[in-house]
Amino acid sequence: KLTLFWFRRDLRLEDNLGLYYAHQQEKQVLPLFIFDAEILDRLEDKTDARVTFIHEQLSRLREELAAYHSSLLVRHGKPLEVFQSLTQEYPIQNVYTNRDYEPYAKKRDAEVADYLQQQGIDFYDFKDQVIFETDEITTDKGDFYKVFTPYSKRWLQKFEKTQITPVKLDGRKQAFFQTKPLPLPSLRAIGFEASKIKLPSPEVDDTRIRNYDQTRNFPAKAGTSRLGIHLRFGTISIRKLALEAASLNETFLNELIWREFYMMILYHNPQVVDKAFKPAYDRIPWRNDEKEFSYWCEGKTGYPLVDAGMRELNTTGYMHNRVRMVTASFLTKHLLVDWRWGEAYFAKKLLDYELSSNNGGWQWAAGTGTDAQPYFRIFNPASQLEKFDKDLRYVKTWVPEYGTDQYPEPIVDHKMARERALAVFKEALDQ
Ligand code: FAD
Repeated sequence: KLTLFWFRRDLRLEDNLGLYYAHQQEKQVLPLFIFDAEILDRLEDKTDARVTFIHEQLSRLREELAAYHSSLLVRHGKPLEVFQSLTQEYPIQNVYTNRDYEPYAKKRDAEVADYLQQQGIDFYDFKDQVIFETDEITTDKGDFYKVFTPYSKRWLQKFEKTQITPVKLDGRKQAFFQTKPLPLPSLRAIGFEASKIKLPSPEVDDTRIRNYDQTRNFPAKAGTSRLGIHLRFGTISIRKLALEAASLNETFLNELIWREFYMMILYHNPQVVDKAFKPAYDRIPWRNDEKEFSYWCEGKTGYPLVDAGMRELNTTGYMHNRVRMVTASFLTKHLLVDWRWGEAYFAKKLLDYELSSNNGGWQWAAGTGTDAQPYFRIFNPASQLEKFDKDLRYVKTWVPEYGTDQYPEPIVDHKMARERALAVFKEALDQ
């Protein structure tokens, strides 16, 4: 009899809580990863860099497991069907995994756990990808928070009182299922090709984090951690990172709290996936001009900070947070395009795409979300440029033709667009 450990968004051996507990119990552990056809089939770009990233991480895990004389079982298919065949192939006693809080994942795991239970197999899941789970930070009355600041205060109080100790696998090789290396399907075998996008390293740059509050707003500076993709796929441990953050920079720790805040919001309000957090905002009659939307996507709006951001995203799969705010505000307010269009575009392109944070970020920018900020605060792309990229270093990197006659005229006038947005929002919300 053996225990399967099912990797999902926790692709590391180090300080992986579910794996640690699986390794501690008496059955041998066989690690498993499923290329989930339900997710992969929805990806239009067959060179999607996130799939290449996962593939590289699996190859690394497989090598690390070889040091334990074990390997990684990799399957491709719908998870429930994969388990239906694995239970025929292996004498499975338990399945261990780490919890995933997205609506799709909750449903998937409930179905798998149900099936396993019918087969007499126990399914155990653990908290791993967050410091505090969705129901661990609540008001005195036990309600979930709707606003960030009180949530973050409560989070910090609890963090200070909690002893967080990263765990390490002991060296017992035979605690893993002993096997020769198991095959890793190629990217092609699962319908993909390698991406050419350069993928960021999981190294934590202490100096960057120490200066984070000073540098994080300037897109031309390497002032943020670039750890988003590693938090997304669990190639770093949130516990280790939060402990480092607490000793290096409060503002940085605060950003990690935003991550958990949006996860909590999505968990308790799964309707936000396609509805405004504040329902009245679903009355806004978005203009949704397809031509203007495509100028935005391509970085050809004639607003240099917006265009630089979109071109950075299209080329690298990354966009600086300040510029994410400016581009998202521009799309939803200046062009009056539905935030769901922008959200879907970012979801396709961002290496660090996270449903909860992306949805939260878009609803924040559109004014439809949890934030108390009134809708009439509209980013002015020109003054944002003046404040955060004064010497045009960022703009010139991505929009080299800026300042020449090759660069397009603005597709909308700022003053007109601002007044139009105010009028449209006001009318929809006053109804
Ligand atoms: P750092 O600034 O170094 O921050 C460290 C980590 O903290 C990030 O990797 C991320 O996990 C977390 N974090 C930082 N800021 C936020 C935030 N505002 N909300 C939630 N978590 C945060 N972040 C995503 O991880 N995935 C997304 O899909 C995403 N989409 C966004 C869309 C919009 C419109 C906006 C305005 C923001 C979005 N963000 C998203 C938040 C933020 O822009 C990115 O987390 C950050 O830019 C990633 O770069 P970094 O890893 O260098 O972050």
